[in-house]
Amino acid sequence: MILPGAAPVPGNVLLRRIVDHMFIDGSWDEARSGKTFEVTDPATGEAIGTVPDGSAEDALDAIAAADAAFGSWSTTTAQSRADLLYAAWQLMTERSESLARLMTSEQGKPLKASRAEVKYAADFLRFYAEEATRVTGEWLPSARADQRFLVLRQPVGVVAMVTPWNYPISMLTRKMAPALAAGCTLVLKPAEATPLCARAVFEIFEEVGTPAGVANLVTALDPKPIGEVFTTDPRVRKLAFTGSTAVGRHLAGVAAGNLKRVSVELGGHAPFIVFPDADPVRAAKGAAALKFLNAGQACISPNRLYVSEQHQDAFVSTLVDRVSKVKTGNGFEDGVGVGPLVNEAAVAKVAGQVDDAISLGAEALVGGRRLTDEPFDRGHFYAPTLLAGVRDDMRIYREETFGPVAPVISYGDVDEVLNLANDTNYGLAAYVYTNDFSTAIRAFEGLRFGIVGINDVNPTAASAPFGGMKDSGIGREGSHDGIAEYLETKLGGFAL
Ligand code: ADP
Repeated sequence: MILPGAAPVPGNVLLRRIVDHMFIDGSWDEARSGKTFEVTDPATGEAIGTVPDGSAEDALDAIAAADAAFGSWSTTTAQSRADLLYAAWQLMTERSESLARLMTSEQGKPLKASRAEVKYAADFLRFYAEEATRVTGEWLPSARADQRFLVLRQPVGVVAMVTPWNYPISMLTRKMAPALAAGCTLVLKPAEATPLCARAVFEIFEEVGTPAGVANLVTALDPKPIGEVFTTDPRVRKLAFTGSTAVGRHLAGVAAGNLKRVSVELGGHAPFIVFPDADPVRAAKGAAALKFLNAGQACISPNRLYVSEQHQDAFVSTLVDRVSKVKTGNGFEDGVGVGPLVNEAAVAKVAGQVDDAISLGAEALVGGRRLTDEPFDRGHFYAPTLLAGVRDDMRIYREETFGPVAPVISYGDVDEVLNLANDTNYGLAAYVYTNDFSTAIRAFEGLRFGIVGINDVNPTAASAPFGGMKDSGIGREGSHDGIAEYLETKLGGFAL
């Protein structure tokens, strides 16, 4: 199904390119208004592309296309949907290097991290190609001898998707792949900071032969009018959102008020607990590897590092050594571990939290400042930072940071530490270092978070359920659970 010779090289970001189309009903269109907006490289401030500034009318066009396509797409065979997703996986894999380069240009993360993300993104295409053929029903007994029950699982309908800028390719495939596998059609609005990555994903779906209207892309500088349409239009049957808790709460509220299904993957405030029996050096190396991924701009990034008193020195000195060696810079440079933050507001938020913590007695053992000298002056950089002596009266203890700051908190009472970790409105990811089996089980069971890494700083995969509790969201992505979010259960009662 891959059209021979039809693959342009996406993401040739060395040349400034004009991208003036959205993907609606199988063709690349301008916004109805003809308006566009610019996309910039967060490391250099340079313009790298121009995309349509869509509005409510464009979103309505896309929903109409998705609605019209639903009847035929939802009745294709699971095998043919699987074939399409396999083809998309293959093409994304072939294109991984150019996609990674595009991502580093548009989002800023180091090239190595972009490559890892493209691989992760492609994994969802393959996993849900496999899962497509495993959607089954049930044949159930009745209390009545002359009755049988048949349970059928069918696609929910048109899905509206809103995705963030921090993982600008994998957050798309994590939603699109299970939706398409289930037989849903979709309209997706990517974050305004990263529409070029979204476009590159849709180019892949176009080239593998996705029927017109099945997958639609609407880009916009102002997301509000599109969000309004997504959550109120009766043809949309589900909202799938990843982003901040404030926006997710609002959109989920409106969508649920209109009785649409919702899955929302929101913010986090992950605890990272080093128990007395753990190896503090190993734990500190894990913390350093995890904390600075994507410059800390991840909802599963650890925001509170609880280290038992007796391990303070070993843990902190190892972390000081690691953090001091993290190279900050343009993600295209060799050896860079931390790239730019997404924009000036992100830098200001991090700086505000760090300054607040220092004013209340925390100590910046490494970093603790913006980077404004040349070559950082053109982008949005904050120094990799280690804060010691963090306490619960500091903002950073409660607010999501989304930046390269590791806040260390010393604790003495082992019996209390799970309560401290749970004392947050968020519930996405938590991490534990222990060598004691019982402690591991107690922590796994006792932490009120959707994902718990036990001596493991990478507890994510296409085959594993990802999602949070409390203010971190509703629903799961990835795994068998991920496709269930796009399926309705229908009961048939048969009288014999
Ligand atoms: P962040 O603060 O990390 O950028 P947001 O929640 O603001 O997180 O953004 C996540 C996604 O939600 C982006 O695609 C953004 O455009 C979109 N978004 C933000 N506000 C709205 C809104 N009112 N309606 C619809 N989408 C929105």
